[in-house]
Amino acid sequence: MWKNSILETIGNTPLIRLNKIAKELPCTVLAKVEYFNPGNSIKDRMALKMLEVAEKEGKIKPGGTIIEGTSGNTGMGLALAACVKGYKCIFTTTDKQSKEKADILKAVGAEVIVCPTNVDPEDPRSYYSVSKRLAAEVPNSWYVNQYDNLANRLAHYEQTGPEIWEQTEGKITHLVVATGTGGTIVGTGQYLKEKNPAIKVWAIDSYGSLLKKYFDTGEIDEKEVYPYISEGFGEDFVPANYDMKYIDRFEKVTDKDGAVMARRIAKEEGLFCGYSAGSCLQGLMQLKNELKKDDVVVCIFHDHGSRYVAKIYNDQWMMERGFLEVKTFKDLVSGRG
Ligand code: PMP
Repeated sequence: MWKNSILETIGNTPLIRLNKIAKELPCTVLAKVEYFNPGNSIKDRMALKMLEVAEKEGKIKPGGTIIEGTSGNTGMGLALAACVKGYKCIFTTTDKQSKEKADILKAVGAEVIVCPTNVDPEDPRSYYSVSKRLAAEVPNSWYVNQYDNLANRLAHYEQTGPEIWEQTEGKITHLVVATGTGGTIVGTGQYLKEKNPAIKVWAIDSYGSLLKKYFDTGEIDEKEVYPYISEGFGEDFVPANYDMKYIDRFEKVTDKDGAVMARRIAKEEGLFCGYSAGSCLQGLMQLKNELKKDDVVVCIFHDHGSRYVAKIYNDQWMMERGFLEVKTFKDLVSGRG
């Protein structure tokens, strides 16, 4: 039995129990480990779905160019699909993202344009503006816009939600997701709540993002927005993929706590995941008083640690930001840290 292309390996990722770390919690904690997708992240699912819908709607024609502002994971999914289906890709990304992410995209044939992080989305230099401008200028191009493209959340409604429901045999009580575009949490959350409205859906946000404040008050508060180090989640606006009725609460996690927890997941569970997986589990830890013995919690671990080797998995990088204490000779000898 063979696969007809790499695209047939997307989805059906394993749900893996956390054994050591979850001892600090009263319940069962399962991780949906999305780095088993071929592009090493959950974004393969929505990338393919968005492309298929665009093809069906005639928004992209054979030989066309896919254009998107992406921090890497969506780009990887789109690039894989583009290789197989014969499209070109141009991605804009920010200088905050790991250099590895851009290099990986280039390896699978995409062109990558790096833009400054700390400018307004409306600024002509921002990665949103540059990608929009390219979409207007490049002939036969399709601007993906993962934030407002509702095929993003549809992918999770059709795949991620049903997989989790089946893998837990309907026993899931809580879904915990570090949230960015909103596609993962809203699509998965909607499916699960339709199966069982009692399931709680918890969103993990970063400091420097306005999502939690918007959820709590309905206010778009620009004062909530400032630069942060965590990658992949939190936003400075509210993308159209959000439908807050499928989310029960938001919890914020600091850059340090997310990074430290990602390293613990790798060391204690053997799951070499990205930054947002650490933030997701850390957010759950912060809410542990709300959990009971029979609860079955599913955390989404969005991507693989390889994209962060120069960052959270690098001691020097961690120490420079005060995320890891400077090691003493005694620590080194005893293997601490
Ligand atoms: N974590 C990582 C590593 C991601 O790449 C993303 C996507 N930006 C998210 C979390 C958040 O997922 P979503 O955009 O579906 O809300």
